[in-house]
Amino acid sequence: MYGPATAKQTSFPCLLDGCTQVCSSAGDLMRHQQSLRHKAPEHPCLACGHAFTRPDALKRHLNAKTACKKGHQAALAKGGDISD
Ligand SMILES: [Zn+2]
Ligand SMILES: [Zn+2]
Repeated sequence: MYGPATAKQTSFPCLLDGCTQVCSSAGDLMRHQQSLRHKAPEHPCLACGHAFTRPDALKRHLNAKTACKKGHQAALAKGGDISD
């Protein structure tokens, strides 16, 4: 059985954001895309789910919204699940 759909793909270029990385398997590509290189640092509010790129922005958000601050701290105490 040989055809375009089943032909073994040997290069898996990462097309994220101008990245030039080419991986040799789908698993490698997935690992690569989950690596730090493509993970923007995120500081999510665990109460409302809003993510901030800087910890001080999150802090400001939490200080401005008492409900978020409470929910966020409660979620942290529970283990970091995002809930609403
Ligand atoms: Zn990449
Ligand atoms: Zn929030």
